[in-house]
Amino acid sequence: MAKYTVTLLPSGSQIECQSGQSILRQALNQGISIPFSCLSGVCRTCRGRVLSGEVDTGQVHPNYLNDEDRAAGFVHLCQAKAHSDCEIEVKEIDTSLTHPARALPGRILDMQKLAPDVMRILVGLPANEPLYFHAGQYLSLSLTGGLSRFYSIATSPLIEGVRQFELHIRHMPGGIFTDHVFGEMKLRSLVRIEGPIGNFYLREDSEKPMILLASGTGFGPIKAIVEYSLMQGSTRPIHIYWGGRLRRDLYLHELAESWASQNLHIRYTPVLSLPSDACAWEGRVGFVHRAVLEDYPNLANYQVYACGAPVVIESARRDYKLASLPDDEFLADSFVSLADTATASHNE
Ligand SMILES: Cc1cc2nc3c(=O)[nH]c(=O)nc-3n(C[C@H](O)[C@H](O)[C@H](O)COP(=O)(O)OP(=O)(O)OC[C@H]3O[C@@H](n4cnc5c(N)ncnc54)[C@H](O)[C@@H]3O)c2cc1C
Repeated sequence: MAKYTVTLLPSGSQIECQSGQSILRQALNQGISIPFSCLSGVCRTCRGRVLSGEVDTGQVHPNYLNDEDRAAGFVHLCQAKAHSDCEIEVKEIDTSLTHPARALPGRILDMQKLAPDVMRILVGLPANEPLYFHAGQYLSLSLTGGLSRFYSIATSPLIEGVRQFELHIRHMPGGIFTDHVFGEMKLRSLVRIEGPIGNFYLREDSEKPMILLASGTGFGPIKAIVEYSLMQGSTRPIHIYWGGRLRRDLYLHELAESWASQNLHIRYTPVLSLPSDACAWEGRVGFVHRAVLEDYPNLANYQVYACGAPVVIESARRDYKLASLPDDEFLADSFVSLADTATASHNE
């Protein structure tokens, strides 16, 4: 297989790449940290721009990388493959600030339905193998047969690492992993985790007011961020927006309300898109990402953390940019399903 040198700019880091593997995968294998999230070409976290050389953009749906982007040299490094020596402009992560991913055995310590289709599972780790991560990051959870999916950690990190953590998992009927979680998974089952992963985590070096946008189980990592910042005694302003279709989708509504009632710097706005009469809902109605814009038409001085359904994240990314949110201040994890990457649509 042909070998090429990919030079990342502005850092000048070099990756020795084989033509058959994605540039991101080989960068990570060689200890070079490029931000990434979905690993399926959708979320844009690993987007770079080819300055010279030949790069195959790979399988990225035009919704996520359109003709204009391709003509300008943009690629998603989780899909892109080098076909010659090349130079790529991309943001890298300061690894002195992140925790390396590790593979660890785990056990299901508790399972609790927070809503008919949302399961909170508590995973315990060996006593001498705590997990270190930043608030908001996710991990890969594998079953004993090897089937794995990504889930965001819904627990605040601790300086000494955590020995147990919770995940909020929504049932996707017909979905291979979540059918198992809502069917055969039992207390004490063995699992494997690999993490932490991702660039979606609380930036503690910023003082900008934060908008935390959650859709559905995207509330999990938002919970981790809020609990961590409360534990740190931070009074940085936080406005949480949590969207669902029905009232039951806001499966920890009272917890979010209690953060807001007990802390002057925290506000909470729940938004339902399709409340039924049974919801007896008197709160905001509509698309959650639009509720943010109704309240903050100019986002120039904010930092936004958005997590959950891909359609919400993409709509927010697009519309908040028009509302002057700097690209760097939009941090997101899109709960992309690998099965969906070829067919996803962007119309909310
Ligand atoms: C970075 C990241 C973090 C994630 N964190 C979480 C989390 O904390 N909690 C959580 O519940 N999920 C999370 N997910 C989604 C999760 O990884 C799985 O995709 C999801 O649980 C479905 O797995 P499955 O095997 O049951 O479905 P699959 O068998 O993979 O897919 C079956 C079908 O289910 C539907 N589907 C799957 N996922 C979604 C979705 N997110 N939205 C709409 N339809 C979907 C699609 O129609 C798909 O074709 C995350 C994904 C990513 C990339």
